[in-house]
Amino acid sequence: LIELKGVGKSFRSADGTQRAVLEDVDFTLAEGEIVALLGQSGSGKSTLLRLMAGLIPADDGSVHYRGQPIYGPTRGVSMVFQSFALFPWLTVQQNVELGLEARGVPQAEREERAEKAIELIGLSGFNGALPRELSGGMRQRVGIARALVVEPDILLMDEAFSALDVLTGEQLRDDMLELWESKQTPMRGILVVSHNIEEAVLMADRVLIFASDPGRVRAELRISLPRPRNPESVEVRSLIDE
Ligand code: ATP
Ligand code: MG
Repeated sequence: LIELKGVGKSFRSADGTQRAVLEDVDFTLAEGEIVALLGQSGSGKSTLLRLMAGLIPADDGSVHYRGQPIYGPTRGVSMVFQSFALFPWLTVQQNVELGLEARGVPQAEREERAEKAIELIGLSGFNGALPRELSGGMRQRVGIARALVVEPDILLMDEAFSALDVLTGEQLRDDMLELWESKQTPMRGILVVSHNIEEAVLMADRVLIFASDPGRVRAELRISLPRPRNPESVEVRSLIDE
């Protein structure tokens, strides 16, 4: 679905020097896969996701989506943010409709599609609520509904659960996996960025270990256990230890 080859990206630091954040990143997200990218804070994970979403350009290498180079925001690719990124003065329904508005979808269709996305993620009945009236977990559900409403085939999740308490995060993670398995959405691939090993192993079919300074893929774990996986599973633990 998405293929990165030799991708590099640098930013100018405060002292004016160029600093390589990503270097020679090779990565493929294949049809039907959930891949986790596990790396330390500051290793360039969010930068990599922004590249894949077409929000920023790469300095080196290539990023392809379904065989086409990515130049700007790409139709089939949606992103969920750690900080939810909701508009506080808009209702749940309005926040979810925003993505459709930007794509010129007519009002009547926007309403219906937003309602469907809100229902899919378990927020029916909260369409008229403002973000501040919701718990953190519910707010992130709005963030997910807003990502799903455009019917992406690729979902990029940037630390989507890390602002939530453990139980809320686990619940939302399980609900996402259920949605994925149920095939009720056109999603064909998910990339989960995380610094939580357990989350990565429990969600993904492959876990890529991301090194820092500069960010690049250093190792890969293939998870062969069926989902749903048991967090207490010894096999999962021994995989991590390798
Ligand atoms: P975290 O786990 O904290 O979210 P991350 O792995 O997502 O970290 P990035 O947000 O991709 O890391 O940032 C990697 C590095 O790139 C950081 O040192 C950051 O300061 C730098 N950086 C990111 N975006 C910019 C930018 N627009 N301008 C300058 N520096 C940037
Ligand atoms: Mg980040």
